[in-house]
Amino acid sequence: MASGKILSSEKGTAITMRIAAHPQLYSPDGPAPPELKGGRCRSCGYVFFPPHRYGCEVCGAPPDGLEPVSLAGRGVLRSFATVHFHQGAGIEAPFTVGSIVLDEGPAIHAVLTCRTDEGLRSGDRVRSILVTQGQDGSGNEIVELRFEKIGER
Ligand SMILES: [Zn+2]
Repeated sequence: MASGKILSSEKGTAITMRIAAHPQLYSPDGPAPPELKGGRCRSCGYVFFPPHRYGCEVCGAPPDGLEPVSLAGRGVLRSFATVHFHQGAGIEAPFTVGSIVLDEGPAIHAVLTCRTDEGLRSGDRVRSILVTQGQDGSGNEIVELRFEKIGER
């Protein structure tokens, strides 16, 4: 029963919300495809993701020389690997992890929406997408960041 950003339960009593599994990286209620919360150095323009406050790793500018920047969540798949056995919680094997170079420059690792690497090629265009990972104890929908293939190289 999704209606916009707020999801109401079947009973109509409780109001539940979308919650980001990693709110420091993306907003659960942003535009689609979701923007990523990156950072940029005001001195040299270096763009990075995930955000941090250690100072610029390129020019050495101090932490107060960094500013938040929204990344479009689009990039190119460089390499990928399918995980066939995984004991951790939150994701069921098989799943495929990609090394992605975002259009703004940062290289990241992210889980892809396709479970196996069938049909994937280095150079494919990908974009960010939020998928429902489960619910918390209050019935809120937990969304996690994934990347999906949108085109060939
Ligand atoms: Zn810098």
